[in-house]
Amino acid sequence: MKKKTFHLISLGCAKNTVDSNSMARLLMQSGYQAVANPKQAEIMIVNTCGFIKPARDEAIETLHELSDLKKSGQVLLAAGCMAERFGGQIAAACPKVDGVLGTLHIPEILSLIERLQDRGKRPELPVRDLPALAALASPLVHQFAPQGASAYLKIADGCSRRCAFCSIPLIKGNWRSRPAEEILRDAAILQDMGTQELILIAQDTTAYAQDRGEKDALPGLIEAILKAAPEIPWLRILYAFPGFVSERLVDLMAASSVIQPYLDIPLQHAHPEVLRRMRRPDDMTWVRETIAAMREKIPGIAIRSTFITGFPGETESEFAALYDFLEEMKFDRVGVFPYYPEEGTASAALGDTVPEAVKNERLDLLMRRQQEISHAINRSFIGKTLNVLIEGEQDGVMVGRSYRDAPEIDGLVFVDGAAAPGEIIPVRINSALEYDLIGKVVG
Ligand code: SF4
Repeated sequence: MKKKTFHLISLGCAKNTVDSNSMARLLMQSGYQAVANPKQAEIMIVNTCGFIKPARDEAIETLHELSDLKKSGQVLLAAGCMAERFGGQIAAACPKVDGVLGTLHIPEILSLIERLQDRGKRPELPVRDLPALAALASPLVHQFAPQGASAYLKIADGCSRRCAFCSIPLIKGNWRSRPAEEILRDAAILQDMGTQELILIAQDTTAYAQDRGEKDALPGLIEAILKAAPEIPWLRILYAFPGFVSERLVDLMAASSVIQPYLDIPLQHAHPEVLRRMRRPDDMTWVRETIAAMREKIPGIAIRSTFITGFPGETESEFAALYDFLEEMKFDRVGVFPYYPEEGTASAALGDTVPEAVKNERLDLLMRRQQEISHAINRSFIGKTLNVLIEGEQDGVMVGRSYRDAPEIDGLVFVDGAAAPGEIIPVRINSALEYDLIGKVVG
């Protein structure tokens, strides 16, 4: 009998990685096998990102590459965020795509494949309907993605905030927090799979259960996860929203040896006027006080943030305030992105007033300064010992991550010595690069 096979390319963020894993699990439960070579796959899937134009360009390019390889009998699907909002554009730009499966319709992948196989090939466009939203919360759909010894665990999807630049709510809809029992079930499964690092994700983890009318529910959820999966040694929280990092959350992080002293708080800007135009919290006093309290209660905490340059109307002095803030806060990790106007968002109506060259110049200025800050912080670790989760080998050297590094976005620790992937071992740091550290296994 012919083997059922699929090849899946996951683009975009960790939340998309989780959706890709959910699709792969549904396919495998139905007898499909994953194959690394797209030429050998009966079903080829690109899980697209649709957040900003460069991500959509990458999705179209990837679909074109697979279209070029596509042979008769193969099915090519575009799934994910771009497919949800711009399915028609995909169908027009990539005529060899057989089906378009929006991110809200991922549980329907098997029925879409069956329909395509039954009735020939013509593009299917996503339909936003409530049954599909309900299906997303189905207990059949696990929402996690193991990556080596780490695993992303999605606790909610969508976003009910309306930041002026952001198209996520238009793609993913409003907040939908997963029931705690499903999250705990997934955490226990990941523990059984040997997960060493559990990474909680959502568009905004601090909004967990706000859609159910609960306030500050994240700390309680984390406590329950720690009980449900007591053998997972590391837990990391991503994407906290300014204004919603509660004292209870900070105290829980301070008291737990499992919750890694690391927090990603995307601030986007530091000038109150720009933040107001962005429709984001503009209380910089809260930001300064909360970060100071976290640093006091959780010594050594690594804080990551992201910023946008060239938001409509950003003046020289507003940018200078952002630069000074970066200088003042000495974040461990920073990501900077140039502003892209996104169709349908509130800021699109403000025009794209800052020239691209200025956006990029401001981005470079921030990143160059941050590189120096990051290097200085890294140098302060020389002579210290950090626990490192080993991920594998690069050019004959062991590589891993410390509590200061989330996968894919932060730095690495290069380790002299022997250890197996998935082991957490003490490493004495002897050298520091801008973003990475170098050390030797202790003992
Ligand atoms: S909090 Fe704002 S930036 Fe983040 S996903 Fe929601 S709308 Fe977008």
